[in-house]
Order: sequence, then structure tokens, then C-alpha cells
Amino acid sequence: MEVLTGAGVSPGAGYGPAYLLRADVPEPAAGSRHGGDPVGEVARVEAAVERVAADLEERGETAGGEARDVLGAQALMARDPALASEVADLIAAGTSGERAVYEAFMRYRDTLAQAAGYLAERVADLDDVRDRVIAELLGLPSPGLPGDASEPYVLVARDLAPADTALLTKEVVAAFVTEQGGPTSHTAIIARALGVPAVVACAGATIIVNGTPVLVDGTTGMVALVPSEEEVSAALRSARDRESVLTSATGPGATADGHPVALLANVGGPGDLADAVSRGAEGVGLYRTEFLFLDRGQGPSEEEQEAAYREVLEAFPGRPVVVRVLDSGADKPLGFLPPTAEQPNPALGERGIRVFRTFTDVMVGQLRALARAAEGTEARLQVMAPMVATAAEARWFADACRAAGLPSAGVMIEIPAAALRAGELAAEADFFSIGTNDLAQYAFAADRQLGALTEFQDPWQPVLLDLVAMTAAADVPCGVCGEAGSDPAMACVLVGLGVDSLSMGAPALPWVRAALARHTLAQCRAAATAARAATTAEEARAAAREHLPGLADLAL
Ligand code: PEP
Ligand code: MG
Repeated sequence: MEVLTGAGVSPGAGYGPAYLLRADVPEPAAGSRHGGDPVGEVARVEAAVERVAADLEERGETAGGEARDVLGAQALMARDPALASEVADLIAAGTSGERAVYEAFMRYRDTLAQAAGYLAERVADLDDVRDRVIAELLGLPSPGLPGDASEPYVLVARDLAPADTALLTKEVVAAFVTEQGGPTSHTAIIARALGVPAVVACAGATIIVNGTPVLVDGTTGMVALVPSEEEVSAALRSARDRESVLTSATGPGATADGHPVALLANVGGPGDLADAVSRGAEGVGLYRTEFLFLDRGQGPSEEEQEAAYREVLEAFPGRPVVVRVLDSGADKPLGFLPPTAEQPNPALGERGIRVFRTFTDVMVGQLRALARAAEGTEARLQVMAPMVATAAEARWFADACRAAGLPSAGVMIEIPAAALRAGELAAEADFFSIGTNDLAQYAFAADRQLGALTEFQDPWQPVLLDLVAMTAAADVPCGVCGEAGSDPAMACVLVGLGVDSLSMGAPALPWVRAALARHTLAQCRAAATAARAATTAEEARAAAREHLPGLADLAL
């Protein structure tokens, strides 16, 4: 049995045949020529294009919702008459069908790539269509997800983009393995949201051959190729045992001695609600509203927004629902909020609240839609802004919320400058929510999307704990909505640091509830003190665990 290792970012065990997403479709050789029948060659390409377009449409219809729009747009690209006539011209000049498709798409690609914003972001979609048509012509398996897998598969990829994952469900994916990515990458967030085990930053993952049986342990980061039957059943059995321990903890979050810690869900839209409710979320701690509009070229109307927000508010009567205004830029660019100039370092550029300096009307429209959505519902709507760096920004946002009639305006603490001056920001905001994903990225100047820098995303870095402690000490309620809160041991430490609530992908809720229920507030505080006294993440993790004996019951 060959074993690869990466970072386990979504717990549990998954087993199935490997499916390599976007198996590289080779570039057809330059100068390759067809056999002398241009009419037949054009017909061959047309038929392949039609099969690809029809397949994309069919998948879109099956998935529905946002995925239907994304895949429908790709089908339109495939059938673009300008591309067809370019291909026909190249074939008339003797070029083979495969090469003609490649060259025509590349010309179109260059034009798109030079455009700004939304169009430039469609380049990856165009490449995907090109590869599908070439694969069809060469008789190769199509890139992308299998439409008709007979059993759940282990999805292996370099990394996953939002459009790749639009169609996925727990029923079809047994586990994720990616070569790139870190604990806060899109893959990790989606995996946790789906409750599917995942390993990221797994060197060598993409050389796994399609169909290879793979066992994935999303807790330890182990990826075993061709494991024995005994190994598979032992791993699945222990995952099931852990599940049953978890389901024994129910009710609101609290430490063993009754210190309440609200356990809230991170959601990206109404589709995440059922899971959040069924796992006992006490409300929503982070509604990532930008997830609703990632593929839009045009901003959504206020009416459309109102409907999407109301659905989430209505799911939690009497409960807090914390909605984040659009966090556009860097890893989550929105086509309708383009940066004002080229951004050599997007994560350090116009993102989050900074985008609203230019697009203030979009923020005001969103706040208005939120206020209207809350009318007549019983949820306790709280609104917060991402990427706030200064007290002046916090005041600007809080004023805008008040002008829209919103009762509670908070800020996310995800920039060290904001944590260091938390007291000043607390004078302007009604609450804090710490985004540990970005706080780690900015504390260590390490891009959260880079697999090579994963160690800096580790929330156990003592310096990150220092920043959390400073923030929690300020005089406003303070939650954590970054991925750190979904690690049960870290959740205890965060509570020990003074955090009042924790928000996470729904599948982590039972783990965190069970871990808190097994420890007193004093134990959590002792674990936090020990972790902060360490100098490395590994030492901090080990030191905290000394004070958290109940984790062993959960096999954590
Ligand atoms: C964070 O940065 O920790 C956070 C919760 O926001 P996002 O991951 O959406 O940037
Ligand atoms: Mg963030």
C-alpha cells in the first residue's frame, strides 16, 4: 500500500475509486493536418461541439440553480458561431480538427484575458470547454466530474474552484484530495460544508491514476492507495464509532460547568440551511453573501437579495443571524465589483469593505435589502463588514447600517491592525467576529491559497492566539467565524481566550459541541494559557491537549 500525506482539513474516512478532475488534455501538435476532407473534418468537429454543449446543458439541468447558469453559459461558448467559423477557416487551410479547435479557442482566450473583470474571469470556463471538445475529438475521457459514477468517488485535483464544486453532493463524493490548497482554501470550506472528508496540500496527488482505490483519512491527512480490505473496514468502522459518540451531545453549546458558548453555522446561501438546522446550529454566525453571486457579471437586484436573505432569516426565528456584506476581491472576486486599477497583490488590494469606497451604492443597496428582508421575521439580524482595518472604517460602516435602519453593526477582525487596536474599534462596533483565515494570512504575510505556505495557516500559531486574545479582551461580544473554530481542540482554546461564540461549517458542530461539553471553562483557560506560552504551532497544540483530556473520548 502506497501512502501519500497532506493536511487533513475535514474529518472522517472516505473510500472509493480515484477520479482525477481535469485530467490534462494534451495540446494537439502544432502543424498537424487532416486527411484531405475539409468538409468531413468540419462535420466531425461540429458533431463533437454539439455533444459537449448538450452534455453541459444536461448537467446544468440536473444540478439546477446557479450551476445551471454556469454550465449553460459554457454551452453557449461551445456553440459560439464566431468560433465555429474560425475553426472552419483553419480546417479549410488544412489544419486538423483538434488543432483548429485549439487555435481558435486560444485566439478567443487572448481577447477575453485582456478584458477586465467578469470577462477575464471566464477564461477558465473557456479552457474547460476547449478541453472537452478536444477530448471528444481524440476519444479521451472528458475533463470534469463524471456524470454517471456508479459509486461515490474520491475526487483528486490540483485544486478546486467554486464552479468545479457546484454539482457535488455527499452522495457522489467519498472524499477530496488536492495537491494545492490549505485549511482555509475553497476545497476545505466546501468539504466541511458537505461533510466530506478532505486532505489538501497533498504532494503527488495528481499522479494518482484514475480508478485507483483510495482510502482518505481527513483527520490525519493520510491518503492510502490500494489499501487492503481490512484497512478499509477498520478506518470506516472507527469513523462510524466517532460519529456515534458525537450524536450523543445535543442542545446549546456550553462547557462542562455550564459556561454558554453559542454554536452557530457558517452558510453560503439557503442551500446550507437544512444541514445547519439538523445539526443544532443556534443561529448563523457568518452568512457569506458573496457566495450567492460569484458567477454574476451584473449585480443582483435588491429584490433578489431580499428574497435570499429572508430565507436564511426565517430558518432561525428568535436566533442571531450574522450576515456579512459582500466580501469581494482576492480569493472571492465578484465580476460586478471590479477593482479600480490593476492589483498586483489582490489580497492586499481593494477587497472587502475597501471595495465599497468605490461601490458605496452597492453596499447601501445591500443594507437596504437586508433591512427589508428582516421586516416581519423574528430572527435577530446582525450585519458585519469584512476586512476592516481601522476604527474610522468601523464607524463609516456602522453609520451606514444605522442609516439603513439596521440595529446591530459589527466588524470582522481579520487584519492584525484591527486586532492590535481592538479597543478603538469596539467603541464603534456592536460586535466582533474574528476571521482567523484572513487574520493568519495577514499576520504571516502568507497567501492562504498557496499549498506551499500551509503551515502559516495553522491557527495554532501562538501569535495568532495572541491576536485573538487581544480582540476578545475588548468590550464587545466577540465570536470566531474562521475555520479555526471548527477544530474541537482549538474551539476549547478559543473559549479559554475569551471568545463568546463559535461559527463553523455545520458538520463540525457536533464535534465542537462534544469537545466543549467534556471540559470546564477553567480547563479551556488553562489550555489557552499553555498554548500561548508555546513558541511553535506543534508545541501549542501539544501543550493545550495536556489540559483537554476529554478529547481522547472523541478519538481526536
Ligand atoms: C476568515 O477570513 O476567517 C473568514 C471567515 O472569512 P473568509 O474565509 O470568507 O474570507
Ligand atoms: Mg475573511
